[in-house]
Amino acid sequence: MKDNRKEKGYKVNCYICDTCGKSIVTVEYDDGVTPFFLGCNRVSLFGDCNGLCRASMYSNPQNLIPTALWYRKKDDEPMNPGERQHHENGGLFFRELTEEEIIGYVKKVFYKG
Ligand SMILES: [Zn+2]
Repeated sequence: MKDNRKEKGYKVNCYICDTCGKSIVTVEYDDGVTPFFLGCNRVSLFGDCNGLCRASMYSNPQNLIPTALWYRKKDDEPMNPGERQHHENGGLFFRELTEEEIIGYVKKVFYKG
């Protein structure tokens, strides 16, 4: 996986739902813009809360283990018009990390593997 932040250290953010209190920890693998809110139904695998998860703006401990990441798409990747606009404004995209990627992250960050 492309990993531009490796040398600079990762920015770990925590989004907490206003409605149900569920949280998700994200990490930025690229430089770019991330949203302040994330729909809870997007971060939750359980139930369908319609609340909004609010970013803690990196005030959370930085040693939390992320389960999702923000990444920059390549200019030539297919995107719908809304995504294209977001991308051109420097926006990053969200996806869940695979189990393997989470293990890789832990090794790299905590064990300097
Ligand atoms: Zn919620």
